Amino acid sequence: MSKKETLDSLLRELKSVSDLEIYQKISDLKRFSKDFFDYSPILINELKNCVADIVVRPLSVDAIINVAQLCNKYSTPLTLRGSGTGNYGQCVPLKGGVVVVMSGLRKIRNFDSKTGEITVESGCLLRDINDELIEHGRQLRLLPSTWRSASIGGFIAGGSGGIGSVRWGFLRDPGHLQALEIITTEDPPRKLDLNANNSEALNHAYGTNGIITALTLTTAPYSNWQQIVVDCVQWDQSVDLLSKFNCAALDLYLGTLLENEIIDCLPAWSGKSKGKHRILLLASPDAVSTIERLAKSAAADFYDLGSENLKAGTGLRELSWNHTTLHMRGFDPDWTYLQMLLPQPESEMMRKLKSEWGPNLLWHIECVRQNGVQRLAALPLVKWQGEEAMSRLISQCKELGAVIFNPHTITVEDGGLGVVDSDQVQAKSNFDPKGILNPGKLKGWNISVN
Ligand SMILES: Cc1cc2nc3c(=O)[nH]c(=O)nc-3n(C[C@H](O)[C@H](O)[C@H](O)COP(=O)(O)OP(=O)(O)OC[C@H]3O[C@@H](n4cnc5c(N)ncnc54)[C@H](O)[C@@H]3O)c2cc1C
Repeated sequence: MSKKETLDSLLRELKSVSDLEIYQKISDLKRFSKDFFDYSPILINELKNCVADIVVRPLSVDAIINVAQLCNKYSTPLTLRGSGTGNYGQCVPLKGGVVVVMSGLRKIRNFDSKTGEITVESGCLLRDINDELIEHGRQLRLLPSTWRSASIGGFIAGGSGGIGSVRWGFLRDPGHLQALEIITTEDPPRKLDLNANNSEALNHAYGTNGIITALTLTTAPYSNWQQIVVDCVQWDQSVDLLSKFNCAALDLYLGTLLENEIIDCLPAWSGKSKGKHRILLLASPDAVSTIERLAKSAAADFYDLGSENLKAGTGLRELSWNHTTLHMRGFDPDWTYLQMLLPQPESEMMRKLKSEWGPNLLWHIECVRQNGVQRLAALPLVKWQGEEAMSRLISQCKELGAVIFNPHTITVEDGGLGVVDSDQVQAKSNFDPKGILNPGKLKGWNISVN
């Protein structure tokens, strides 16, 4: 059968599946084949022509099972999509085929009042899950700055951490993901309940080794986060103060530091820099007085903005993590970025790079907990000067001791993990033996089948 005949037969059978919306308009095929990969000029070139042949939106788990069965029958790629807010083309169908939009699976299945664990369907938005948790006096431990629009399935399969990482580390740390319900793409597909141990291989695997239909997460007690801004004249002094906040006995949910040039490109509601660098903090009410004391003893300006209003969309969290990059690109689309864990001590490395790259490199720092240790991560803004300049900068960062999470690559391994995770590859051969899930994204599988 030719490719066209295969797709026609597949489409005919998909049309008889109940609880399934089908999109065939070119504009829909294009819309559902993109994410935010345009933050990377390198990925724009690589991904701009990748388009799905068919887009479907299942409204039940049974519909997903039927789609998986048909994609297996016709050996057609199946790429999952949550809300499409990923940055590295994670949900872009490299080889066409079927894109499955998961937003129709949005049930909150259970809240366990004893453990605080919540079980939700994978298309649930993080915002909705958090709203539900607040009703129970809890909240999500980790949120991407896209928390209003991103799905939980997409966050687990494609994200890494974000707001909350200062306290709770990263999504792959044991203790966040407690269980998964998945559909395999075998013939026939199976619906499996995976415990925390078996779920690990699907965590941050870009949907290459199983279709997540539901998941159970641990949560944290609700805290009425207070928004605090601290402005400093000197960069080194700002880094020292941020590190003090990061390591003090403070309950923090966010600790962000931005160079003054960045602040002046952020939305008007966030205020101008007046030439000072800015620390943004979300802290528990009992942390505020200590932050004020530490700020004043460093001769920095301290501003207590009071409680967060999560409905307003103008809180400090909207200026953090990759939302900083979003705002900078809104100001000038020639800005792109990098992601790294900074070496210690941090200032010396930052100073060296700044002296070479000048205004083409602006520092954006985030407090994180890495393997149980308080550290500083960076998402520096980089003025695009071509691919060669970007690789030179990456090499320099590595030479100076930074661990790079390259946002200009499409595979699971090159972007984050750095190495092939044999458990991820094994899970793929168990649950997706034909290799039809999001083909091209799991390097370990590409190597094993070639
Ligand atoms: C401005 C901006 C800020 C961001 N900030 C952060 C941040 O702070 N932290 C962070 O980690 N990320 C961040 N991101 C990246 C992204 O928003 C998050 O990772 C988000 O959680 C992805 O969710 P999504 O629903 O949009 O997933 P999608 O982009 O739709 O998908 C992500 C990956 O998950 C897979 N997938 C989706 N659903 C399923 C499923 N049900 N089963 C299996 N696989 C599935 C997809 O195939 C894809 O590989 C940011 C992005 C932008 C543009």
